[in-house]
Amino acid sequence: MSVKRISVGELGTNCYIYCDEATGRCAIVDPGEMDDYLQSNIETFGCDKFDYILLTHCHFDHVGGVSAVKELTGAKIAILAPDVPGLRDMYVNLSAPFTGRGEVYPKPDIELTDGEKFTVGQTEFTVMHTPGHTVGSCCFITDGIIFSGDTLFRMSAGRTDFPGGSMTQLRGSLKRLMKLDGNYTVYPGHDAPTTLASEREYNPYC
Ligand SMILES: [Zn+2]
Repeated sequence: MSVKRISVGELGTNCYIYCDEATGRCAIVDPGEMDDYLQSNIETFGCDKFDYILLTHCHFDHVGGVSAVKELTGAKIAILAPDVPGLRDMYVNLSAPFTGRGEVYPKPDIELTDGEKFTVGQTEFTVMHTPGHTVGSCCFITDGIIFSGDTLFRMSAGRTDFPGGSMTQLRGSLKRLMKLDGNYTVYPGHDAPTTLASEREYNPYC
């Protein structure tokens, strides 16, 4: 497999292109904004190779490019069920307070649930519901990799002062992540990648 990290939008959100190299099938995680660079990367992998647009949560800086990516690739939009209403609410998705342009985003094709599994090519992904940053935040876990959205960052964790946020829930979610067996590379929604082993040791929230 390969993971390509692409910084998008004013907040420098990490968008990831995951590719199952055995089959060439791809998924894109958190396309916060479509720009020429993201588009050329998608085209390099092949627009018809994308099966899913995976959203870790409903905030505008993670979902702003969904319509454009869907139009380009035909991939299915997937997000955890409790964050679906936030896509349609410009205060919950933060587009109104942060950008001054209230935006709403398309209905997803798939409403995910905790523990659900799906495959990209030959690779199985598991969805873990990790509420705290938003009610329906989730992590996508596969093959030694966690896409952690705004739940877990390198040496930090997501804010809990937005609509639907909860520090109690966030701590519970981080505990669940830390209890996963073995080590994983963690690809967060902002800033640099890290590893679960390093976060177990050094993250003040864990
Ligand atoms: Zn967020």
